[in-house]
Amino acid sequence: MNAHAQQYRIPCPSSHIISVPASLLDEELICPQCNVRFLAKFKDSLEHVEEQTERAAYQWLTVAISTAVLLITAGIIAVASQLLQ
Ligand SMILES: [Zn+2]
Repeated sequence: MNAHAQQYRIPCPSSHIISVPASLLDEELICPQCNVRFLAKFKDSLEHVEEQTERAAYQWLTVAISTAVLLITAGIIAVASQLLQ
């Protein structure tokens, strides 16, 4: 595990990516580039977005593999039933 405090990359309303330590999540921050105040929400962080994307990709992979296994099984059953005739 990483011993350093977790940092989250959160975009300000003008899409500047700000590195925010976990202790400042849900706090109001000021973007150093455009001086706009914004709330650092975990769900807006790139880490959260990437996690969601990875999860969606993993779910898609699971569905794809399940479908492939199902088709192969159906194919084996079809071949087996023909051989048994
Ligand atoms: Zn900004």
